[in-house]
Formats: sequence, C-alpha cells, structure tokens
Amino acid sequence: MNAINLINVNKNFGKLRVLKCINLNIESGEIVSIIGPSGSGKSTLLRTIMKLEEIDEGIIKIKEEAIANVEEGIKVKIPKAVLSSSLKNLGMVFQNFNLFPHKTVMENIMEAPVMVKKMSKEESIGKAEELLDMVGLLDKKNSYPSELSGGQKQRVAIARALAMKPDILLFDKPTSALDPELVREVLQVIRKLAKESGKTMVIVTHEIAFAMDISSRVIFMDNGEIVEDSTPEKIKNTTNERVKAFLQNIT
Ligand code: ADP
Repeated sequence: MNAINLINVNKNFGKLRVLKCINLNIESGEIVSIIGPSGSGKSTLLRTIMKLEEIDEGIIKIKEEAIANVEEGIKVKIPKAVLSSSLKNLGMVFQNFNLFPHKTVMENIMEAPVMVKKMSKEESIGKAEELLDMVGLLDKKNSYPSELSGGQKQRVAIARALAMKPDILLFDKPTSALDPELVREVLQVIRKLAKESGKTMVIVTHEIAFAMDISSRVIFMDNGEIVEDSTPEKIKNTTNERVKAFLQNIT
C-alpha cells in the first residue's frame, strides 16, 4: 500500500522555486532517508506532507487520500474531516523539539492523546510511561523540558509523536540542534524504531552514515529536485557528479 504519494508537486517561496515537480511514492513500511545540501528543499518537502506548508501545484496523498490538490493553480478543497483523519496517520519530530515548556515530560506526551484522541487519563498515563521506558527516560517523567539535555528533549519529542500511534513518522533533521555527544542517543532510538516498529519512516538528515545504514532507500535532493532515489548501496557508488561531490565533501 502507498503510504505517501507526491505527484508533480511544486512549491515556491515568493520567487524562489523550492520544490520543482516532485514525484515520489513511499510504500507502507519503507524507511526512507532524504539527504542533500542545505537549502535544497528537504525540510519543505517533509512539511508539505505534514500540511505545514501549502503547495502551489500538484497532489499529495496519504494512504491514497489527497491532503493537498492544486490543479493549474486552483486549489481543490479537501473536506476537513478527510484532512484530519488523514493527518492522524502522521507523526512528526522537529529539529527544535517543539515541546511545551510549561508542561512536564508526562504532560507533553499525554496532551494530544487526551485532547485529540479523547483517551482516558489513566490509559494515557500507562501509554506515556511505556513510551518513556522505550526511549529510556521513565525517570524524567516529572521533569520540565528546561531540566533536560537536548538529546533527552528529542527523545521525549519522539515519545510524544509515538503517543498518537501514527503509522508514518516524519523526522525533520532530528539531531541537527544537538551537541555532537548527544546525537548518538537520539539516533539509537530512531534506529530501534526503524528495526522494530514496522512504521513507515521518512528521515531528513545530515547524518549520512546513519541514513545509509538504516534506510531501505535514500533520496538525494539538490536545488528543489530529486536527483537520485535509490538503495543506499547504489547511492554510495553513484556515478552522478552532484551526489558524488556531496558525499565526498561530508566524509
Ligand atoms: P533544506 O531542508 O534542504 O535545508 P529547506 O526546505 O529548509 O531546505 O529550504 C529550501 C529553501 O527554501 C531555502 O532556500 C530556504 O531559505 C527557503 N525557505 C524555507 N522556508 C522558508 C520560508 N518559510 N520562507 C521563505 N523561504 C523559505
């Protein structure tokens, strides 16, 4: 089954063409990393899938249901109910964690299940504790984000995304804001999810070795375009000059 579909997607910021006719199919259960130079449109691509950015042209579908559809500049209206049920399939982890600063770790994780999913408080406490255990932070459940390291904050953010039980997880440069010594603990959690959760995962990252290691598929973007979309092995041995130059520069 298709988890994510982009068909001829274009996105501009003013005069800047940030996504240029993007076509992309991601099957359910795939682990896909998106790599490429800064400013190439990777985060924007992810944000359009999450409906955090509107597109200027094209179609985006989540599990075969359109969440964005713009034909020749004319927006096709998506019913609110369809949109919200489609978006429930998605969870996103942001570069800057986006935790609520005035809520404890537990409250951060319980907020959406209780408010959006109408889960009982008891059930959500049980679920939150399970998730905190999974990311190794059960002992921090009553702490506030300001009392945590960056790596711990990001692990809480991952637990929070998982609390809504999404089938599809989007990671937007999840380790970019972290000090180098904190990157590993976050990558370990993502690696575990990739191995064990069965969820579809799309990861925008600068951690190239990690991306090559955990992904079934790697996409290289440059200048708003998908330049190469292949297996890690093929990307590593690419003949494409742009991809080669990028990989040589960062290793
Ligand atoms: P990447 O994730 O590959 O680093 P981005 O998707 O963040 O690239 O950005 C692509 C381009 O779009 C960059 O030139 C960036 O400056 C620009 N951009 C991103 N977000 C906005 C915005 N909200 N307004 C204007 N320009 C933006």
